[in-house]
Amino acid sequence: MERLSDHAVQEFVALRRDIHRHPELAFDEHRTSALVADKLKGWGYAVTTGLGGTGVVGQLQRGSSARTLGIRADMDALPIVEATGADWTSCHHGVMHACGHDGHTAMLLAAAQQLAEHGNFDGTLNLIFQPAEEGGGGALKMMEDGLFERFPCDAIFAMHNMPGIAQGQLVFRSGPTMASSDYATVTLHGVGGHGAMPHKTTDVVVAAASIVMALQTIVSRNVDPLQPAVVTVGAIHAGQANNVIPAAAQLEISLRALDPQVRRDMEQRIKTLVQRQAESFGVRADVQWRPGYAVLVNDAEQTARALAVAHQHFPAEQVNPTGVMLTGSEDFAFMLERVPGCYLFIGNGAGQEPGACMVHNPAYDFNDDNIAIGAAYWVALASDLLSPTPAPL
Ligand SMILES: [Zn+2]
Ligand SMILES: [Zn+2]
Repeated sequence: MERLSDHAVQEFVALRRDIHRHPELAFDEHRTSALVADKLKGWGYAVTTGLGGTGVVGQLQRGSSARTLGIRADMDALPIVEATGADWTSCHHGVMHACGHDGHTAMLLAAAQQLAEHGNFDGTLNLIFQPAEEGGGGALKMMEDGLFERFPCDAIFAMHNMPGIAQGQLVFRSGPTMASSDYATVTLHGVGGHGAMPHKTTDVVVAAASIVMALQTIVSRNVDPLQPAVVTVGAIHAGQANNVIPAAAQLEISLRALDPQVRRDMEQRIKTLVQRQAESFGVRADVQWRPGYAVLVNDAEQTARALAVAHQHFPAEQVNPTGVMLTGSEDFAFMLERVPGCYLFIGNGAGQEPGACMVHNPAYDFNDDNIAIGAAYWVALASDLLSPTPAPL
């Protein structure tokens, strides 16, 4: 396999720092998107822009095989004031690449150049650069714009850096890997009145308190104890004064699950429990349900292939096949619902290593030592999955 030259590594580290210096929030990745499109065109990719707003697809076809492969990177930054003190600190105050999407974009671009210049493959390579991973669901927006109809993929892959794991470690997990995220706003309507005459009211504060406690029984009594699940009431708003019983109260709830059925069951249980609790107190409840990202499920066969590629091209101690489930969410889950594939992690640094600071922290920075490794992995994966002389399955 062709490794990146030192010169190429330096070029893409500089590119990563340039993207870091110019971070852009969800669906506003105009500069980044234009930069990605220009680079890909320059290397001979057929480039399509404007998918899901600022999304870009670079397509490279070689040989005569009908096989297709998708690799995806994300491009958006976060609304955080940067505190890294790095020379390449964000020049947009209050916007920062605090999740390493600058690094994901640079790694895939480095692989794109390598594959264009030295790639010996037979099939179609689709490199997908998506907007708005951080809550905006950019993956879904690209799919709504016909991503997989226009650029069919037999399999799809993506990689996220992970602080707390030794730099350059490649971590794989088959099956459910990241949680679904859903949100609900519960509004309770009662009859307000004088705090001294509660019998003339229907008190939403008591009902809200009881609902918060009852919600705790969903994870403890309804969900299989072997299934991870979270129900959090993160906000509760009611009343202004100690002697006034308010007429309305609001609860903000968030949920996480690592199994699609548990996710559906929790939604039903929350709706039923809130309604029945409210009824028992004589108040009315409106539940506004906002589905977020799906459970991210890595396909067993594609994960095995992705892991085999890592074992073939990297030392054994750099490959971890026993990654754990995470309660974070990721919109690549939507792509994996349509196309089998694998979402893997690359260690950003642990302990005293640079890069150990957690993502979404103002002091976080992507570890540039991963550019060569991440790019080499993508090149190896593409060369293997679209090999001109495929090994029999
Ligand atoms: Zn993030
Ligand atoms: Zn991220």
